[in-house]
Amino acid sequence: MAAASVCHRIGRFLEMAPALGRWPRVYSTSPAFSEVLRLPQKQLTKVVYPLRELERHLVADTRPGLIEQSLFDPSLEDIAKAESIFAVTARNRIEYLSSAVRLDHAPSLQQPEVCFIGRSNVGKSSLIKALFSLAPDVEVRVSKKPGHTKKMNFFKVGKHFTLVDMPGYGYRAPEDFVDMVEAYLKERKNLKRTFLLVDSVVGITKFDNIAIEMCEEFALPYVMVLTKTDKSSKGYLLKQVLQIQKFVNTQTQGCFPQLFPVSAMTYSGVHVLKCFIADITGSLK
Ligand code: GDP
Repeated sequence: MAAASVCHRIGRFLEMAPALGRWPRVYSTSPAFSEVLRLPQKQLTKVVYPLRELERHLVADTRPGLIEQSLFDPSLEDIAKAESIFAVTARNRIEYLSSAVRLDHAPSLQQPEVCFIGRSNVGKSSLIKALFSLAPDVEVRVSKKPGHTKKMNFFKVGKHFTLVDMPGYGYRAPEDFVDMVEAYLKERKNLKRTFLLVDSVVGITKFDNIAIEMCEEFALPYVMVLTKTDKSSKGYLLKQVLQIQKFVNTQTQGCFPQLFPVSAMTYSGVHVLKCFIADITGSLK
């Protein structure tokens, strides 16, 4: 997407933003996907395809479409299939596996792995809890007290893949944190994709930039997930999405060109993110 085109769109959009109102709350508890499918079409789009919903509010110009190409636009059937991968059953065990402070303490696994990184308070544990909402016994451990050792936490999702919750970075991160994350990102052989969480209210911070530079330097395939989308008005959220999209298009090489806006409170975007994870780990086959 050309930078001029994005700026033009932001300008046009801001003129109409106040009329769009606030982003609605849809759920306070975990929704089963079968319930989501019963929602009226408009609400269903809001929950399942938040980017499409935002796109509706763009004034069409010479290059319509919020995202340059709809690279990942799964059907409801695929999303439902991915839901079953994230649902615990006797044959599909989803469980906390172990924690590690150093890469050589990490479990040695063959199955594909995805990791979640982001600055402290970005909403990482809330999002991982939302991803595991159909596995209620899985405890997403949080150690936020200053001085507590920050660990990488490994979760096994059936025979499909491992999900790793990396320690949050930021001004309170211990010195050895960067070494831990850096070693993991650089050397973990079965790491298929890194999900880099950015707070949609705050935008890309200098701490996020360090993580982005790390991913770029190691030529990792990574994906930007925009958290807490329920907190802003639709107008503000769209402005943020367009700005971050412009950053991805112009400043990154390894970042997947499609953003994933999510809310751990309303579950907006969570189903499509599950489907993406299932897809890139080969679990949908
Ligand atoms: P972490 O430090 O990255 O693990 O962040 P947490 O998941 O603990 O979230 C930090 C704060 O943001 C908590 O107060 C959460 O309740 C809040 N939060 C997380 N995700 C969301 C979200 O999607 N919407 C809203 N409104 N608040 C959120």
